Amino acid sequence: MNHSVPTLDYTLVEVRNADVASPLVVICEHASPFIPPEFDHLGLAASDRESHVVWDPGANALATRLASRLDATLINSKISRLVYDCNRPPDAHDAIPARSETVDVPGNADLTAEERADRVERFYRPFRETVASVLNRKTDPILVTVHSFTPIYYGERREVEVGVLHDNDARLADVLLSDFAGLASMIVRRNEPYGPADGVTHTLKEHALPGGHLNVMLEVRNDLLADEVAQSAMAVMLSDWLAQALAKVEARACKV
Ligand SMILES: [Zn+2]
Repeated sequence: MNHSVPTLDYTLVEVRNADVASPLVVICEHASPFIPPEFDHLGLAASDRESHVVWDPGANALATRLASRLDATLINSKISRLVYDCNRPPDAHDAIPARSETVDVPGNADLTAEERADRVERFYRPFRETVASVLNRKTDPILVTVHSFTPIYYGERREVEVGVLHDNDARLADVLLSDFAGLASMIVRRNEPYGPADGVTHTLKEHALPGGHLNVMLEVRNDLLADEVAQSAMAVMLSDWLAQALAKVEARACKV
């Protein structure tokens, strides 16, 4: 039993460039592998503590570069998705998963209702409120959530390299998917390797759909974000692609 006093002086959410004029907000819910010390690594083996089950490797670096290139506001969660998955609502079964892919998470097993409520209050609520308040300060904000996925899932190799994900509002996704000349050499797919049925569009549903804000979720295979050179190259491609798509969406809106 660990009787040490809980350490609570860590940052939960990072916001950069909150006051830029751009309506674009880049959000990275799985940016960090950080598990606060009081959780004692959630019982994970050392080899799993920085694996893709704990965070989205490369996504933070990509989101940071994308936000910088697009002069956008950036919001990063600073807590591992195993402590609380900020891209899931509190009632989702995998918001605090006891198992992720093939990895058991002992520190999340058999949580009481009070323990779950405590995680929601301490980790999800501040993230949710930060996103809401950043969006509130913008006129017609545009949300782009940035994730990475593992190239091998349950032993199967994934072919898709870049996923363009959306929920009921596909306006931005449709334009992106209609023209990805800059990514011509890449395998780009709609709602792969995950889609709305997997519960991955929570941030979009919570923060974009109710207000009718343009939105999209980008999933990049993490072997394509393995080092800074790769991350920079991907950020250049994706930012050019996004900028072009946004210009087209705005041009269409002006014609209405
Ligand atoms: Zn993710």
